[in-house]
Amino acid sequence: MENGDGNEGASAFHMPEWMIQFADQKQEFNKRPTKIGRRSLSRSISQSSTDSYSSAASYTDSSDDETSPRDKQQKNSKGNSDFCVKNIKQAEFGRREIEIAEQEMPALMALRKRAQGEKPLAGAKIVGCTHITAQTAVLMETLGALGAQCRWAACNIYSTLNEVAAALAESGFPVFAWKGESEDDFWWCIDRCVNVEGWQPNMILDDGGDLTHWIYKKYPNMFKKIKGIVEESVTGVHRLYQLSKAGKLCVPAMNVNDSVTKQKFDNLYCCRESILDGLKRTTDMMFGGKQVVVCGYGEVGKGCCAALKAMGSIVYVTEIDPICALQACMDGFRLVKLNEVIRQVDIVITCTGNKNVVTREHLDRMKNSCIVCNMGHSNTEIDVASLRTPELTWERVRSQVDHVIWPDGKRIILLAEGRLLNLSCSTVPTFVLSITATTQALALIELYNAPEGRYKQDVYLLPKKMDEYVASLHLPTFDAHLTELTDEQAKYLGLNKNGPFKPNYYRY
Ligand code: NAD
Repeated sequence: MENGDGNEGASAFHMPEWMIQFADQKQEFNKRPTKIGRRSLSRSISQSSTDSYSSAASYTDSSDDETSPRDKQQKNSKGNSDFCVKNIKQAEFGRREIEIAEQEMPALMALRKRAQGEKPLAGAKIVGCTHITAQTAVLMETLGALGAQCRWAACNIYSTLNEVAAALAESGFPVFAWKGESEDDFWWCIDRCVNVEGWQPNMILDDGGDLTHWIYKKYPNMFKKIKGIVEESVTGVHRLYQLSKAGKLCVPAMNVNDSVTKQKFDNLYCCRESILDGLKRTTDMMFGGKQVVVCGYGEVGKGCCAALKAMGSIVYVTEIDPICALQACMDGFRLVKLNEVIRQVDIVITCTGNKNVVTREHLDRMKNSCIVCNMGHSNTEIDVASLRTPELTWERVRSQVDHVIWPDGKRIILLAEGRLLNLSCSTVPTFVLSITATTQALALIELYNAPEGRYKQDVYLLPKKMDEYVASLHLPTFDAHLTELTDEQAKYLGLNKNGPFKPNYYRY
């Protein structure tokens, strides 16, 4: 088990020359965002989709075609039928989605370019189980360009973009996924990825732990050839640590969920970008002058507060931790108890990772038309169950928007039934997913190329130097110029000029 700072591998890690060189190069994929369309997310069988997410836009839901993809005989234009998607004919639409995503995934595109000479994943046979979206497609095609063979299933029964799955199948990737799989389909798809004549995976990329679980259960011998597991979700990482604790983890595993870049970008910046989007799409509200209370001033709360303040809202914060509370004060927010402002606020947002932060008592005291939503942990933060009582009337006014009406006519506006607002009602920025996908790609490269003995049968964090590398690959998008340490300065600080630049306990 890795220790608290978890970076035993760091000292042993040597970044390939081509990676180091590239970090300094300016690259061309620096166009600004393009709106991709409405996305939504749903729970996977393992419910891992509240830990990790991806976008899911769809031109066509293909609801006109009820035939199960499992009953269809489909071939791509090259006559290949080693895939199972909703409709291979949608490939062209999917290709456009992938091309749009590429514009906001500069680091992966950069890795592809660098890999034209060197193939750090040559010989890698990667079996993957993630959301299948345009962003994942960019990752898969990058892994392909780096030399890997991939087979892929979806980690969530609803999040697959059928067009994108078709585009991947058309370009030769064995993809087994469609939107609206049954539970039986879900496991069938995973099985089709691993149970193949003449092909055995030697790397796993998982999001939620279902694929890893399936191989453990059905094909434990496969682990003899598997060099490592890269896991992205909180749930999956938790399972890996449990396996490790029980002495049952039989290969090294990389916990990318806790990489600094993932944590900071998913929590702080992703929420800063998506809170307004989620509120706007569901309510069409104006933010200027509105009174908002944000519960919790951690990474997610900081992101929400910053966005709302910038729009002219009057923001109150609640906290239990004096350090975060002081940060909120220093950032110019009024620190209050929820009770003090509950009667006057227009919006209540929870971001604590805790349970029952907004109780029935609070809900009873809110003013008419108060909007209530959650950006934190799954659906525990608002006591939604307490609103399912006979005297209250629920009215579904839009998808993901309920009016809950009290006997005196007062109504509150509950969004996404208290589930994560941004994952349920808005888009997640591709650039954020780019950072996560790059981290995954580098974790695969690292585990695949690590010399015997560097990683044991344990769970590791990505070496900090690689976290720094992921960040550096995204800097050219902003035409940002890093300052280099002089020899004298490096000596003074006791640092290597090429990093890592911070100790593992540094908090950023
Ligand atoms: P964090 O630990 O940095 O922040 C949570 C804060 O809430 C802490 O400062 C804590 O002191 C405070 N808190 C706890 N109980 C409280 C209470 N009863 N009242 C007021 N404050 C309280 O965590 P984070 O990174 O900000 O994540 C928060 C939650 O959001 C987690 O559940 C996380 O899984 C989830 N999350 C959501 C998204 C998203 O896109 N919506 C992204 C990442 C994480």
